[in-house]
Amino acid sequence: MSDKSPEKSGNHSIETILTHSGRNPDNQFGFVNTPVYRGSTVLFKTLADLDVQSQAYLYGRAGNPTTESVEHVITELEGAYRTKLVPSGLAAITIALMACLKSGDDILITDSAYEPGRKFAAGFLERMGVSVRFYDPRIGSGLADLMRPNTRAVLAESPGSLTFEIQDIPALAAVAHAGGARLIVDNSWASPLYCQPLSLGADIVVHAATKMFVGHSDAFAGTISTTREAWEDVERVRTLLGFFTSGDEAFLVARGLRTLAIRMKEHQQRALEIARWLETQDEVARVLHPGLPSHPDHALWQRDFSGSGSLFGFVLKPAPRAAVAAFVDHMQIFSMGYSWGGYESLCLPVSITKARTVVPWTEEGQLFRVHIGLEGVEDIKADLSAALERYARSR
Ligand SMILES: *Cc1c(COP(=O)(O)O)cnc(C)c1O
Repeated sequence: MSDKSPEKSGNHSIETILTHSGRNPDNQFGFVNTPVYRGSTVLFKTLADLDVQSQAYLYGRAGNPTTESVEHVITELEGAYRTKLVPSGLAAITIALMACLKSGDDILITDSAYEPGRKFAAGFLERMGVSVRFYDPRIGSGLADLMRPNTRAVLAESPGSLTFEIQDIPALAAVAHAGGARLIVDNSWASPLYCQPLSLGADIVVHAATKMFVGHSDAFAGTISTTREAWEDVERVRTLLGFFTSGDEAFLVARGLRTLAIRMKEHQQRALEIARWLETQDEVARVLHPGLPSHPDHALWQRDFSGSGSLFGFVLKPAPRAAVAAFVDHMQIFSMGYSWGGYESLCLPVSITKARTVVPWTEEGQLFRVHIGLEGVEDIKADLSAALERYARSR
């Protein structure tokens, strides 16, 4: 699509945006979906065309109609100025960080951040002369005490990876802006259906599109959406670094987005039902799901979110490693694996003691992260129930 404005605009519902935005059948011989564009070279007809550089596309690395179709949808959903599709969720984080920082600057990162993002900060940004510090995800406006004159970026992720703390985005935004820093929020869990961080004061929103947007565990992508003020820095850094997302990957993201609303609804319902049920089980010490009244940030979640995702955590009562093996090794419905967001349920025992430096993780029992898929909810429950029985016998 060469037209920069989305096909439909105005105050349409999210479901309508997901199904209609980013398509322009008139430009595709009437075909409903924007097809996969593969291409590096874009041709200029005349020297005048080459000189003015005003064609919609100049070179494939900057994007093509397939990548732009995805960007339109996310821009509308997030209420952003613009969006860029990038090769992975991690690339979205690293580009966003580099867009805000230069040598001599300082960044504050939530202690609950996605671990590869933490590692990028420690393993790359520090080497480039940026000071990297971590903060308590529940710090809220207390962040003001940590701000330094050279703090230029604050990275938030709500809820936090693996530990599911909800962050006070409006409070963090106010502190960041007062200090001349930008607030970047990883919104992968809620998706723009259930939370829109830009409307809460964030400057940049990133997504692991690999997860809920793609929805089928078969492609990698990330998105970066920004306010008008933050856009130029993000687009400049992405262009300079040469990040490109193929039309093939973009097509899979676009396809996934068309059903995002109904998938999220089903994931949400099942995840909540399973989380509530797990809370009643003897072997379970704690369930970490912000949609549960027992969650310490439940009120904050109710204030800023209109729904919840597929992913949550739980802690089992302490037991030897063999009991954990008995739990996961014979599951019928759940599989063990990284990532999430597909149609299939996943259950992953995780260890986070080394991934937290500000708020030490003190639970003695095993922490699990589960992604509740689209299987029959009774089958999901039965699988967990059998796993809990095996766990109890081995404990
Ligand atoms: C998976 C994930 C990422 C990274 O996405 P990739 O596409 O795997 O690079 C970033 N943030 C969160 C919250 C994630 O779960």
